[in-house]
Amino acid sequence: MHSVEEVQKLSVLAPATGEIIAEIEETPVHEVPFFYQEARKAFGAWSSLAISERTGYLRKLKQLMVDEMDEIAKIISDDTGKVLTESIVADIMPTLDAIDHIIKHAEKVLSRQKVKTPLLLIGKKSFIEYMPRGVVLVISPWNYPLQLAMVPMISALAGGNSVILKPSEVTPLVGKCIEDLFRRSGFPEGTVQVAHGGKEVGAAFTSGKPDYIFFTGSVRTGKIIQQQAAKDLIPTTLELGGKDPMIVFEDANLDRAVKAAAWGAFTNSGQVCMSAERLYVERSIYGKFLEKLKKEVNSLQQGNDINSDVGSMTFPAQKDVVREQLDEALERGAKLETGLKPSDWKEDMFLPLTVITEVEQDMKIIQEESFGPLLPVVPFDREEEAIAYANGTVYGLNASVWTQDKAKARRVASKLVSGAVVINDVLITVANHGLPFGGTKESGIGRYHSEAGLKIFCHEKAIMEDMG
Ligand code: ADP
Repeated sequence: MHSVEEVQKLSVLAPATGEIIAEIEETPVHEVPFFYQEARKAFGAWSSLAISERTGYLRKLKQLMVDEMDEIAKIISDDTGKVLTESIVADIMPTLDAIDHIIKHAEKVLSRQKVKTPLLLIGKKSFIEYMPRGVVLVISPWNYPLQLAMVPMISALAGGNSVILKPSEVTPLVGKCIEDLFRRSGFPEGTVQVAHGGKEVGAAFTSGKPDYIFFTGSVRTGKIIQQQAAKDLIPTTLELGGKDPMIVFEDANLDRAVKAAAWGAFTNSGQVCMSAERLYVERSIYGKFLEKLKKEVNSLQQGNDINSDVGSMTFPAQKDVVREQLDEALERGAKLETGLKPSDWKEDMFLPLTVITEVEQDMKIIQEESFGPLLPVVPFDREEEAIAYANGTVYGLNASVWTQDKAKARRVASKLVSGAVVINDVLITVANHGLPFGGTKESGIGRYHSEAGLKIFCHEKAIMEDMG
């Protein structure tokens, strides 16, 4: 397919150790049409299978992943710097859960549905059929490199589409692992293909006329992809960033809220699109909360062994984003409660877990996604003020509200402009695959997981039938 001298290699850097641990061949861009050709060839037979036959392949995939869980977890941890438990609990298990959910629900959600026909249309019957779109291009990021690639892939496959994945070049070992898992699960040739490489490869696939693009990544790239897709009127789902607020009222269960703030902000070193990125605490408990939070954060252990709580950063450039936000805040008078100023950071990929106070709402640390272990804490006096703070960014992915007053919790949740709200917990909505996941404002377009996440990969065909 390509001559040896043209092959570019992606070096795989293990962030926790700084070592190059593998090299992976990039897909040459001149092969892009060949991928689409194969995918279109495979589409005919795959889309003709019964939904139960397609989910049969997903069962095999799930079994293989369960059998090889330890090996997969090691690959994820080597590639990202996550601790092993995080790879298992937050990347592999949610993927397995999603496969289960699809196996159980795809048939019901995607089968022909009867719709009531009005009396006027005497003798006619009305139906909706869910037709696969064709070839779905999935472009995925590096922070949860398994589930953020595989969940859209399996959803699209269940609907009868063939799939091309372009995983992040930052975590190519996981991309290779996904390719291998699908191949060994016996999916028919061309139904699932994986292309490796960076943004040039991604851009070449985006302009290769897929029938649908499912993108997860930064707002900046999401906008580029949306522009490109618009040229060919290609529908998209965009799962982008977040700057998720956590609001703690004075009647909250303080100890639980403190632990949730530490976990919500620092799990995976804060490299979570829906991590708690801003903490708003009612002034009457602010001092007490902050003391407890500092103690909790200082007790967390960073490292890459089995006993560590928090692993390393994954992507070197992300350190610069965190550095810039922190420098600006400190220059403007913010106060470090835990962590170090950037000039005192070590060279490695373990950033200090940083809690910061006395910040202003117009600082980058409040307005822009940090995607790192950085948590600004801000006091508030009134409910409306907390809501205004929370809604005061361009993002709207997830939010968390803490109070024991149910009416207040629900009132505040309904006023937050956010794809999801968790009451008295953080992050957790994504663990229920029955709930839709996605953002408002610049956090994205579209939803996945849930029924919506299966239906987006199909177009709805209206059928009206009159058999006399
Ligand atoms: P991050 O900076 O968080 O890695 P990106 O949005 O840059 O997020 O990358 C997410 C995914 O999008 C990766 O797989 C990357 O290779 C891909 N990508 C980046 N730029 C483009 C582009 N212009 N067109 C298509 N894919 C792209």
